[in-house]
Amino acid sequence: MPQPSLLDRSLAAVWHPCTQMKHHEKLPLLPIVRAQGPWLIDEQGRRLLDGISSWWTNLFGHCNPRINRALCDQLETLDHVMLAGFTHEPVVELSERLSALTGNRLGHAFYASDGASATEIALKMSVHYWRNHGKPEKNGFVSLAGSYHGETAGALAVTDVAIFRDAYAPLVRQAATVASPDARLACTGESSADVARRAAAELEHWLRAHHAQTAALIVEPLVQGASGMVMYDPEYLRLARQLCTTYSVHLVADEIAVGCGRTGTFFAFEHAIAAPSDWPDFICLSKGISGGYLPLSLVLSSDEIYAAFYHDDPRRGFLHSHSYTGNPLACRAALATLDIFGEDDVLTANRLRAGWLSEGARVRWANHPRIANLRQQGMILAFDVVDAAPDFAQRFFTAALEAGVLLRPIGNTVYFMPPYVLDQALTEQMLAGADAALAVALG
Ligand SMILES: *Cc1c(COP(=O)(O)O)cnc(C)c1O
Repeated sequence: MPQPSLLDRSLAAVWHPCTQMKHHEKLPLLPIVRAQGPWLIDEQGRRLLDGISSWWTNLFGHCNPRINRALCDQLETLDHVMLAGFTHEPVVELSERLSALTGNRLGHAFYASDGASATEIALKMSVHYWRNHGKPEKNGFVSLAGSYHGETAGALAVTDVAIFRDAYAPLVRQAATVASPDARLACTGESSADVARRAAAELEHWLRAHHAQTAALIVEPLVQGASGMVMYDPEYLRLARQLCTTYSVHLVADEIAVGCGRTGTFFAFEHAIAAPSDWPDFICLSKGISGGYLPLSLVLSSDEIYAAFYHDDPRRGFLHSHSYTGNPLACRAALATLDIFGEDDVLTANRLRAGWLSEGARVRWANHPRIANLRQQGMILAFDVVDAAPDFAQRFFTAALEAGVLLRPIGNTVYFMPPYVLDQALTEQMLAGADAALAVALG
């Protein structure tokens, strides 16, 4: 009897995420046996260039020697200890360093393991803050059209992507949505900043009517990722910050996808910060923070938020916990990741990388008859395919794999979100692979 393949065993025993399993009757799963730098390597030794950082998590390549070494050292020292009643060096140092990255404006770090939990923590903290301030009626939320903040029942409340939400609608207390400042909505003669001002005016209209029942506005700063790399002008963040202050509503910056240098600054919200009071009230981080190694998420909050919970009464404390809160290995991976940002001056180096991306895309696609809205924010580049067939994303994905590149369009939007390790030649290789895939998928 031949042994069943890894693929067949996976289909029998593993329920894959975000997947209609029946589609795998036709579409093969891809067993990956090794990874190195930007390369994923399959059973036949075929190498795939990871153009989307393994779902936006991997910043400095796979099996990075510096992160590996830090993790091996940590493994020999302290694997895990519960964080209630105990503490340890990696979690303290990580919290201090993240605080410093906000100019100590957001100096209190609360930990979990995945992005959706970070969203829920920020929302719960905000509501509990208002309750501790004698305003329990401030318990609603508002998010942007097309927003994505995770898929647990609480996070779905502020996620406006129908396919993720519809089946579970009875479980969800849906938040309000206001217009997205999507720069593609510009009318003739309008700039992206004009669109941002128009969307902010709608936000103000909404807040004026509902602020007394609203705890927080949650946004993905600059790029709404999961709904198709929707990009917008930082003017919206400036105005949203002012409006939230005026109407006493918290501002949550979900930097799970756009944090950790992705947009050119460490936090995307920094594009909108001129004065210390411009920082959001909460920042959520996950995905890239551990270098794409281990599940880790966290919420940073201000002294003012923290102070509202500091009391003799345990019921006024923040009542939330996860078994692996502050896991030392995950924190160590995050510290090694932050070390690389410093040692390699990554934000500066990424300006060069973003330039290669921009130039390579421009020469190929700026005048392509089937491509619209070529757009970029730092290390994210995207475009929309015009008149795409319903199965475009699937065909492009398959053709890109044939060309040796991992790219996974969202609907008719093709995007690149590579790890921060590509040189110009590899950037060109990725874009050339995409161009080949495009020819197949449009043909
Ligand atoms: C991925 C993502 C999340 C959810 O993170 P998970 O770890 O998948 O739960 C939340 N918000 C944004 C902006 C994301 O991109």
